[in-house]
Formats: sequence, structure tokens, C-alpha cells
Amino acid sequence: MTKVIFFTDITKLPDALTFFSLESFAGKKVPVKLHMGEKNNPYFVKPDLVKDVIVELKKAHTDPFLFDTTVAYHGSRHTKIEYQNLAKLHGFTRKNVGCDVLIDDSGVPTVVEGRTYEVADHLKHSTHIFTLSHVKGHIQSGMGGAIKNFGMGGVTKETKIRIHDSSYPVYQKDACTYCGVCAEICPFHAIKVNDDIWDYNEQKCFGCGACVDSCSSNALTYQDADLQFLLACSAKACVQEKTVLYLNELKRIAKGCDCDPNAGPIICPDIGYLLSDDPVAIDKASLDLIHKVKENVFLKVNKVDPLKQIKYGEKIGLGSSSYELLKL
Ligand code: SF4
Ligand code: SF4
Repeated sequence: MTKVIFFTDITKLPDALTFFSLESFAGKKVPVKLHMGEKNNPYFVKPDLVKDVIVELKKAHTDPFLFDTTVAYHGSRHTKIEYQNLAKLHGFTRKNVGCDVLIDDSGVPTVVEGRTYEVADHLKHSTHIFTLSHVKGHIQSGMGGAIKNFGMGGVTKETKIRIHDSSYPVYQKDACTYCGVCAEICPFHAIKVNDDIWDYNEQKCFGCGACVDSCSSNALTYQDADLQFLLACSAKACVQEKTVLYLNELKRIAKGCDCDPNAGPIICPDIGYLLSDDPVAIDKASLDLIHKVKENVFLKVNKVDPLKQIKYGEKIGLGSSSYELLKL
């Protein structure tokens, strides 16, 4: 069964790493995939933690570098230069973390489950990857962890846009019974139902797909597919046939994502760190630990079930949701 190592004190990181074969990373150039934070969002993984990871990777005779991709929307991470500047502002410099910081903008088409995902060049051309994911809520996928770190963060702008747009609802008037369930479930009040009028405000819609999932009459379908399915497929495109270690940080767990300048309040007390070689297992273990403290918190605050990305991940062979939790 997949091992997931749980520890609350980061000084236990070297002990946690002994459960996995870090020896195979020796001699490799290793991207450390992480989100280096959005402007005005204070919750991202901090340089001190990154430095600890880099120290361990160097002890294992690897040549690590911090790595992330540019984003589709205009703002402080739209271009490589903008993102480099923001990363520097957030403390991600060679002096602070002990390695170079690289931002990628181009990718290699990779097919998973019949769709093409453009995987960032630096990930595609690496055989070994280390991943650092801050676990938090997300407006479209309920939660973001290791799967989302790759599924959205490991691909080009074009693929990001396609995934973001995938879950917007398409309405079939003939099938609608005007029950109003979709309007009740929509976290952003983008749908109104009165008697025999179904009204949708695209400007208010964030494409979470919750309305589609709630409609038992098949009057709503996805533009393309469930966003969480595409996230899992995109993550698989990034990591398949590679050796990858995943470190999830369960601290500063906010309602919204690291990419959101208004990520909202902290919704769960700090829990600690998880380490695994399986993205599905580590996200499931993260969710289980969070649920022990705050039951169904992501579903409650974001109205989107985060378990879906884990189930899809397991279904397409990205990893296993069965795991053995070992506490240090
Ligand atoms: S849930 Fe479906 S059937 Fe009910 S109002 Fe919405 S679209 Fe129509
Ligand atoms: S996709 Fe989400 S935000 Fe958009 S209308 Fe449906 S429930 Fe509301």
C-alpha cells in the first residue's frame, strides 16, 4: 500500500525522506515544482521551507531548481519577467533558498485519455521531480493540493485556459423541470429560476460545475468535461513515467487558492506536512486529516466536492487513494 508520511515538525523531513528512494535522484537536475504566490496573497509556501527541501536534495547529490509556469490571466504572473519579479519579492532568490528560480512559458503536447495537454518543457524533459504543494481551498475544484499543483500549474497558458473553461454549464431548455436546485447550489448566484424561466449570468459564473452535478434532469452539461477530471488527466500528463516525490504543506489553509489575491479566511487550523510518492494518496490523506479537524470544510465553503479530483485521479491511473499513514 502507498506510504504517506505525516510529521508536524519540519526538522523531521530528513527522516521522512528515508522512506523513499532519494538515491535515484542523485546526479539529476531536479525541478522543485511549487507556486510562489500571488500578489496580496500571504498564504503561499514560504522560502524557509523551500530552503530546507533544497538542502536535503543537495545532500542527495541532486542539482535542484525552483520551477513554476506563467498564468493565463493578466496580473503579476502573466509573463516570465513579471513572475520572476514577484518570486523575488516573496523571497524566492538563490541567496534565500540556495538554488536558481526558473519560470516556464512553453510546453510539449502530451495526450492523456484522448485529450492533449501542453506539459511545461522543464517538467517534460526531467526524469525526477520534487513537488511542494500548499493545501488550501479552491473556487473551481473545492481544494488544491498535489494534483492541482501539476494539473493546472504544470502546463502552458493555453492548456490552463482550456481546463478553466471546461466546466461552464450548457443548458437544455427542453429537459429543464425548473426545480431550482442548480440556483440553490450555485455559490456565486449566477443562476436564477422562477416558474418557467431559467436565467444564467455568465459574468458571475466561475465554471465550478456544481450546477451541472446537481441537475438530475440532464438539463445541464459541461462545455467540455468536468474540470476535476481534466485536472487529474493534466497532472498525469506531467508526471507519468517519472519519479516524483510530493510534499504537501497543511498550514495556512485558506478558503481560496494561492492564485487568488482575495483568498479569504483561514478555514482550518495548521496540521503539518505529508510526504509521499503518490499524488492521489497524498491529496486523499491531506483531505482526510483536514476532515478530522473540520468535517467537509472545502465542500461547505466552496460548494464543490474536492474528492472528485482524487476519484478521477485513481480512475485514470494517476495513483491510489488507499494509503498507509505513518506518523513520525
Ligand atoms: S437543476 Fe436542472 S432541471 Fe432543475 S432548474 Fe436547474 S437546470 Fe433546470
Ligand atoms: S458553474 Fe458554478 S458558478 Fe457557474 S453557474 Fe454553475 S454552479 Fe454557478
